[in-house]
Amino acid sequence: MFLIAGIQPKTRRLDENPQRCPVCGLTQAYATRVDHYLSLFFIPLIPVKRGEPFLLCEHCQRPVDDFEDAAGPVVPPSGEETVCVACKRTFDSSFKYCPHCGQRA
Ligand SMILES: [Zn+2]
Ligand SMILES: [Zn+2]
Repeated sequence: MFLIAGIQPKTRRLDENPQRCPVCGLTQAYATRVDHYLSLFFIPLIPVKRGEPFLLCEHCQRPVDDFEDAAGPVVPPSGEETVCVACKRTFDSSFKYCPHCGQRA
């Protein structure tokens, strides 16, 4: 007999009220957090790391940036732009993910 132990991520939905996804525009983004658990036989036992809350869009199946104003994709005028390495389009440098294709900035 041998033990199967490891660290396993566990996705938790923090809010049942969906917010508007700034990427696809659908109200299907949920506040989500990924916690990491020490697991034994694939059963999460001890929380080892608590993740940061983020918005996960059910439609896009990817995390989207947390906008203060959920009414629309309002880009804060920080003045700095980042060029996406994947789609080569520019977006505000305050974004963690490219709003065009979802590539991590
Ligand atoms: Zn979306
Ligand atoms: Zn992109």
